[in-house]
Amino acid sequence: MREGVRETDVVVVGAGQAGLAGAYHLRRAGLEPGEGFVVLDRSPAPGGAWQFRWPTLTYGRVHGMHALPGMELTGADEARPSAEVVAGYFARYERAFDLRVRRPVQVRAVRDGGDGRLLVETDGDGVWSARALINATGTWDRPFWPRIPGQELFRGRQVHTAGYPGPDAFAGLRVVVVGGGTSAVQHLMEIAEVAAATTWVTRRPPVFRTGPFDEARGRAAVALVEDRVRRGLPPQSVVSVTGLPLTAAMERAQAAGVLRRRPMFERLTPTSVVWADGSAVEADAVVWATGFRPAIGHLAPLGLREPGGGIRLAGTRAVRDRRVHLVGYGPSASTVGANRAGRAAVRDIRRLLAGDTRPAPSGGSSQREPAAAV
Ligand SMILES: Cc1cc2nc3c(=O)[nH]c(=O)nc-3n(C[C@H](O)[C@H](O)[C@H](O)COP(=O)(O)OP(=O)(O)OC[C@H]3O[C@@H](n4cnc5c(N)ncnc54)[C@H](O)[C@@H]3O)c2cc1C
Repeated sequence: MREGVRETDVVVVGAGQAGLAGAYHLRRAGLEPGEGFVVLDRSPAPGGAWQFRWPTLTYGRVHGMHALPGMELTGADEARPSAEVVAGYFARYERAFDLRVRRPVQVRAVRDGGDGRLLVETDGDGVWSARALINATGTWDRPFWPRIPGQELFRGRQVHTAGYPGPDAFAGLRVVVVGGGTSAVQHLMEIAEVAAATTWVTRRPPVFRTGPFDEARGRAAVALVEDRVRRGLPPQSVVSVTGLPLTAAMERAQAAGVLRRRPMFERLTPTSVVWADGSAVEADAVVWATGFRPAIGHLAPLGLREPGGGIRLAGTRAVRDRRVHLVGYGPSASTVGANRAGRAAVRDIRRLLAGDTRPAPSGGSSQREPAAAV
């Protein structure tokens, strides 16, 4: 063993919903926290990406957050910011199951150690050598900013959802909100209450979804994303397969004209956005609610990517490296999906640790976990 390299069986990277679900199942499988497995998280405190979300995203406004396995989230005040509610719940969870998350620890690179093991190089916690890896790094750390001509010339403020400060920062301003997802709609509706003017811009016409999002529709949406990941393509956004659920607040905003959408503009000038037909809107700020990409740059040395740009998975397992599982990626990028994926990954890893060399059945995100009430 290399000097200064510590050994464990499994490294979990990330302590959001997906990483904690994985850690919970590792512990249930009999691995000792801190010895049989370690959880490394670059965030300063418990809560995964939730701790960074804007204060007006109250717990009552998140749509369908599932509890972590084994411990319900009960009695949460819907008026409190979800950042506080979820961070507090995750902190209690980590303590209750003694998960010993090591933070802040950023995983810089994961390599093949050449001896059948993986080397996990970190900033702040040395190098870990592991037999398997659960990657649960989410997307929050990789906000996606489209490149638009003139962007660098624009003199107003530009923020991404990842740095969205809440509506008060836009009081009295003329604001353009870009993006067709739930975050864009939520930003737009609250900014419209304080701004001088708002303009909503999306690449494709938004599809508003009415009626209940029942289990069958949920499963069909997940199957679409799953199919892409199975083919080695980058996973697409959830909204592209589910549509935007039309709430009563959105209906009111529609009636008030706030959700009148324009197609994507062609360029920015120092003071405006300009469409291909020459029409323009003066703007003091642009809010880019243009989504996120999987934060998986540290896996690059393993060469897991397919020519299509994605990592091909069988269930949660990387097809190119059986030791590596991705949870909270593609079809499991939801709180309920992350729970199921954590369990499926651990089931597969147990076989690997037991020396079973047969390819494991690919259950992955289609595994069922009873959803706890939250
Ligand atoms: C605005 C918004 C609202 C949402 N609302 C809902 C909802 O209502 N219901 C729902 O089901 N889903 C919702 N989602 C999706 C939801 O956030 C995710 O499905 C789930 O919470 C993500 O969990 P995760 O563990 O995969 O990622 P995260 O919560 O992002 O956790 C990843 C963790 O990994 C750490 N990390 C990243 N890179 C590294 C590295 N290199 N080394 C070490 N640590 C690293 C991060 O610091 C972070 O702590 C929402 C997403 C957004 C953006």
